[in-house]
Amino acid sequence: MAGEGKTKYIFITGGVVSALGKGIAAASIGSLLQARGLSVTMLKFDPYINIDPGTMSPYQHGEVYVTDDGAETDLDLGHYERFLDINMSKLNNATTGQIYHEVITRERRGDYLGKTVQVIPHITNEIKRRIYNVASDGQQEYDVAIIEVGGTVGDIESLPFIEAIRQFCLEEAPENTFNIHLTLVPYIKAAGEFKTKPTQHSVMRLREIGLQPNALLCRCESPLEQELRDKIGLFCNVPTSHVIEAPDVESIYTIPLTFEQGGLGEIITRHLQLKTKKPDLKAWQELRDRLSNLQREITIAICGKYVGLKDSYKSIIEAFVHAGVANDVRVNLRWVDTEEIERSGVGDWFDGVSGVLLCPGFGSRGTEGKIAAVRFAREHKLPFFGICLGLQCAVIEFARTVCGLENANSTEFDEGTPHPVIDLMETQIDVSQLGGTMRLGAYKCEVVPGSRTFAAYGETLISERHRHRYEVNNSYIDKLKEKGLQIAGVNPKTGLVEIIELQDHPWFVGVQFHPELKSRALRAHPLFREFVGAALEYDSRNRTGAEKDNE
Ligand code: GLN
Repeated sequence: MAGEGKTKYIFITGGVVSALGKGIAAASIGSLLQARGLSVTMLKFDPYINIDPGTMSPYQHGEVYVTDDGAETDLDLGHYERFLDINMSKLNNATTGQIYHEVITRERRGDYLGKTVQVIPHITNEIKRRIYNVASDGQQEYDVAIIEVGGTVGDIESLPFIEAIRQFCLEEAPENTFNIHLTLVPYIKAAGEFKTKPTQHSVMRLREIGLQPNALLCRCESPLEQELRDKIGLFCNVPTSHVIEAPDVESIYTIPLTFEQGGLGEIITRHLQLKTKKPDLKAWQELRDRLSNLQREITIAICGKYVGLKDSYKSIIEAFVHAGVANDVRVNLRWVDTEEIERSGVGDWFDGVSGVLLCPGFGSRGTEGKIAAVRFAREHKLPFFGICLGLQCAVIEFARTVCGLENANSTEFDEGTPHPVIDLMETQIDVSQLGGTMRLGAYKCEVVPGSRTFAAYGETLISERHRHRYEVNNSYIDKLKEKGLQIAGVNPKTGLVEIIELQDHPWFVGVQFHPELKSRALRAHPLFREFVGAALEYDSRNRTGAEKDNE
């Protein structure tokens, strides 16, 4: 089923251990190709049986990344979007579960009547179909599709994917496919040496199942000597110049430049016979320079439940990097476990911070601590930004403290609350199945002119992504407004509240959507940018105050 189209395909597999940053490597390679004027699309294969990560615990999976079309996907899609500034969709992530689901559905329909349905060819054909589907997604035929296979070579789970790639490369002309293997070259302190054996073994596994890498990306603590690269090349059957080092870096956003320096862009385009313009990496160079020259430093408190597992807030963390660059400031994050606040009060958690961000989340654990954090930020005029559950907690706090609605709550945490200021929307009441049933994906929002949000976006109609079941209960709106809560954005179709603000406060904004999902490396999200700006102002004001005190 070789493709008729012009698309070239790059496959990225991983070896030795997980967590080497395959997603970031894939995204960085994409940016090298974009810098040459090529159109790039991405596909992540996840070899697990869940249909999507939507029902997995953040401890298992980290953040669930939501696309405009409402797919709940792997967090690597976040890297793709942040590096490449393109929008992913449900086509760009496929799991073993989805692939089997599709094949079994067809089998039940009778599509394979008379045949035995097998991994080869039926599952592998479906995997290949997904690859062609992403290369030509109905809107565009891309110059290059980069396909990342999750997991590590040698896992039973990823075998069908590797086998499908083997077939794919056999069916396509050699100049249409390029295989990259990301591996680890560990430094053994006791011996004072880098070791190439794990890489040799990993490539051996890959070759056993029929894939010969065209290039190796070697993760290492520090740059590798030429001699070592020669050795890796020889044992892995790869030209030395295609053994590219990927040493640890300060910022992931310098990786495109590291790869370019290693010659990867040139190696790939030559092999794929792509005629391109000279790479223009000016924007990435500028970003690198700005990142290494940030003039100021502030601390923002990040209040959430999974503070031990930073991967569950991946996009928020990155959005602060982007917003920091936009404001020329290093943003340090202080992780605040709201269960701790719940147990022992606000204490000194917010000493020295210039802003409070309240994270998204599910379930009641830690919410009273979150509500206490909102109160602190509101009363101390500390810049506040609440996302999704963060907005909901802000509304609950306002209802309780300012409007005097005792025990106001969300029905998610207290079904019998006398004041359900946050409640299930009509369409959610009868939902019994869990996967993919929340309000998901992009929705429009009308922003009120004159609000802080309007000042940030400079637009009245915005579109942002959602992932939640509960909403602000519109029957309480009048009471909340009366006491000074501003409804700064609503969904024009449903009238649901999307943004709240307080005007008698330096910067207090809550959003029902997830702005972090649309922040890009080279284009900070307006709300994160303005929040960091407000935190900087707070910091200046406070420092001036302290300086004055000293006089
Ligand atoms: N648990 C809340 C809801 O479902 C908030 C979800 C979130 O923060 N993403 O509405």
